[in-house]
Amino acid sequence: MSTLLTHDEYCSIAKNISYPINPFINGKYIAPLSGNSMETINPATGTTITRVAACGPEDVDLAVEVSRKSFNEGSWSQKPPSERKATLIKLANLIERDQHELAVLESLESGKPISECQLTDLPETIDTLRWHAEAADKIYDQMSPANTNGIGMIIREPIGVVGCVLPWNFPLMMLVWKIGPALAMGNSVIVKPAEQTSLTTLRIAGLALEAGIPAGVLNVLPGLGPDVGEPMGRHQGIDAISFTGSTEVGRLFLEFSAKSNLKKIILECGGKNPAVVLSDATDLDSIAKHVVFSALWNMGQNCTANSRLIVHKDVKQELLIKIKQELKSWYTGDPLDPKNQLGAIISNEQYEKIIAYIDSATKEGAQLIHGGKAVTSGNGLFIEPTVFDHVTPDMTIAKEEIFGPVLGIMTVESDQDAIDLANDTCYGLQASLFTSSTIKTHQYARELQAGTVSVNCYSEGDITTPFGGYKLSGFGGRDNSFMAHDQYTEIKTIWIETD
Ligand code: NAD
Repeated sequence: MSTLLTHDEYCSIAKNISYPINPFINGKYIAPLSGNSMETINPATGTTITRVAACGPEDVDLAVEVSRKSFNEGSWSQKPPSERKATLIKLANLIERDQHELAVLESLESGKPISECQLTDLPETIDTLRWHAEAADKIYDQMSPANTNGIGMIIREPIGVVGCVLPWNFPLMMLVWKIGPALAMGNSVIVKPAEQTSLTTLRIAGLALEAGIPAGVLNVLPGLGPDVGEPMGRHQGIDAISFTGSTEVGRLFLEFSAKSNLKKIILECGGKNPAVVLSDATDLDSIAKHVVFSALWNMGQNCTANSRLIVHKDVKQELLIKIKQELKSWYTGDPLDPKNQLGAIISNEQYEKIIAYIDSATKEGAQLIHGGKAVTSGNGLFIEPTVFDHVTPDMTIAKEEIFGPVLGIMTVESDQDAIDLANDTCYGLQASLFTSSTIKTHQYARELQAGTVSVNCYSEGDITTPFGGYKLSGFGGRDNSFMAHDQYTEIKTIWIETD
């Protein structure tokens, strides 16, 4: 059970915290072979938290060698599933033990509000690991409905060495979305965290060893994309890569695979997700809460952020009043202060990008109705929650993923126009549909081209439901649920002749 501490208590943890700075390879934190390091910045203050190792191709080679060795020796891959389950549950318990420190570490390097880290990211991280651990000894193989002269067994096997390449927006959650099912199925894993957020992933690697995951089975390589991600993508010794990040970089992994060993590639990429409010939507107070939350959660740096509100003209004015009211309860500021729901923007580059989108919306004729400015706080990177009305489909903010706290409102004449506009995007990750009609729910939830459609709420589903995208939002599989396990297994047919 997660509970919030006070601002002072979080500041005190932050003052005394120690930072893991070296890659974790073969069960040890060791100096990187590359000899390089990089800064980890606190985006809320602009100060350097610490310098972390920046690995290179030689570190990737070493990690692949020890991963392969551990896989072939079977210390994890051949362990009975019930024993893998017990070890992963132990890891989840250790994360729970250290939850306050991990929440602070996560907040310091990502700028996320501590209340979110403590009440959402940490509990979901722990639950996700427990769920995949529990699944480890509950997945059955199959027998084929074969002829009587043979027995056809269809079995799953771990793929081998799996690479996980992570984004910075939900460092802990994205980590366990991938290592949870990959380890539960018996693979050896190499993780490359985003360069902005290496610390929590490195800390978890130490906890994994403490839990009893054998040396070489979980390795973590901090570093830059071209120095670590690309060599992993091109490596002949890696059997699968699970990637979460931008569509642009996701495409590169398909190319790396095509030009190396045809390793399996699973991509979870960007989104330009709509909240669609139909003419018969009723509970506008609740809709306003969901719309604002979905646009602002994690400062809008969220692949399922509903950055487009597509609303029927009949309910628009009343909804707008409620949205403005709801925005008043969102406070921006020091991420370590539990009263703030909005923290800092991850990096200078991301901050400049968001400001440029805000400028483009004004220049292209959208009407600014809330926010729109930077919030000045020392060298911290903060942006006000921002809402534009009269956005049209040709505007840049209607088309591109902003990844910031910016909502664009588009008004439509009919329900069908709303659905058509919602689908008018190259992405297809998530859509929220608001209606009081069961018939429209059935019809339009099917028409919406997205991996997840939430009805009368904003949601990504939970650990029991598959998560992934249509169109440019994803490729090759789904995170969460039993489908995540499919990503990290090979299917083998064993045919036994019986006469
Ligand atoms: P990014 O694509 O810039 O980076 C993701 C990872 O790829 C990082 O670890 C990075 O170091 C690595 N990388 C960057 N360049 C590389 C290269 N040339 N070769 C190999 N690896 C490289 O994404 P980001 O900025 O960290 O995250 C934001 C993006 O992630 C957004 O587009 C967001 O929508 C997406 N995202 C998607 C999901 C999802 O589940 N669909 C979840 C979270 C974030």
